[in-house]
Amino acid sequence: MKPFTYQTMQARVRFDVDAATAVCEEVKDRRTLVLSTPFQASDAQALAKGLGARCAGLFTEAAMHTPVDVTERAVALFDELSADCVVAFGGGSATGLGKAIAYRRDCLQIAIPTTYAGSEVTPILGQTENGLKTTLRDARVLPDVVLYDPSLTLGLTVSMSVTSGLNAMAHAFEALYARDSNPVASHMALEGIKALQSALPVIAGNPQHREARTQALYGAWLCGTVLGSVGMSLHHKLAHALGGSFNLPHAETHAILLPHTMAYNAGAAELAEAAALFGGDLGSGLYGFAASLDAPLALGGYGFEKADIARAAKLATANPYWNPRPVTEQDIAILLSRAQSGAAPA
Ligand code: NAD
Repeated sequence: MKPFTYQTMQARVRFDVDAATAVCEEVKDRRTLVLSTPFQASDAQALAKGLGARCAGLFTEAAMHTPVDVTERAVALFDELSADCVVAFGGGSATGLGKAIAYRRDCLQIAIPTTYAGSEVTPILGQTENGLKTTLRDARVLPDVVLYDPSLTLGLTVSMSVTSGLNAMAHAFEALYARDSNPVASHMALEGIKALQSALPVIAGNPQHREARTQALYGAWLCGTVLGSVGMSLHHKLAHALGGSFNLPHAETHAILLPHTMAYNAGAAELAEAAALFGGDLGSGLYGFAASLDAPLALGGYGFEKADIARAAKLATANPYWNPRPVTEQDIAILLSRAQSGAAPA
């Protein structure tokens, strides 16, 4: 075993709770601003109603990649209401807005996740301004309390469940070979991968399966936790470059890239145990797993054209994250060309 550093983070996680009840207990007598995307506004409104006088207001304009102009409007409302707590209800977009407000106002931050993105357990905030996405790490950004309520994920469509689950698994795969990997994070990563590997096929067949939903949320928590505790490599670099500069959807992009980035890094010895879970060959094993769940396989389906490949490869390699295998513009262009067309990984 190599020497390692393991940084614990201060957060209170309550798993498999009734979020509507637990949130009242956590908020106590604070003045809360409840956050959601427009799509989940009515669910957020019901949660706000349950908070009664503890809810100072509702902001339902959270959006993917945390646009700074949206954050500024939410912060203005937070100040106007003299709020001192945010409750983010939803996927990574709502969580991101909660983090952005907490970063600026250092208030109590509660997250109620409804996808498998995992943002709720990381101290990472990605923000978009003038078409550019920048990422920061700060202790203020990590939610103080996370309430996992599997019943809130029953309405997540099968396609979103599958892509979001693959997004979570990507966090864990990259944690296994991170430069600052450690046995604790690797253990959580493998456990998270196994939980999602067993839950996603069940959910694909029956999205109302509560035990599988619980298992998937457990996996998402573990995968998110390792994303927040060790560094990320090629997979996340590519996903950030494509999401930030080509406006590709977050979970779908992760899902499509995953078999290709894992095939690229398969030589990293730390992946052997994970590869065994997928039949020994991680690239083709993950591609087959994704295909069996009807996950999207081609970036071309989301407007990423062949003509975009060269620019994306340049962007992704201009300022690369550390990766176990050297990253060259030419190799990444080949990888992206397969992901663009939906071909199996090389
Ligand atoms: P999302 O939050 O944008 O959700 C996608 C859509 O699904 C939204 O319309 C949302 O309202 C809806 N939705 C969410 N949960 C639902 C449910 N249970 N039932 C029905 N509809 C539901 O998507 P996401 O993939 O969860 O999050 C993506 C965002 O999170 C991106 O901005 C990404 O950068 C960020 N993210 C950040 C981190 C981090 O650590 N900073 C980690 C992962 C993702």
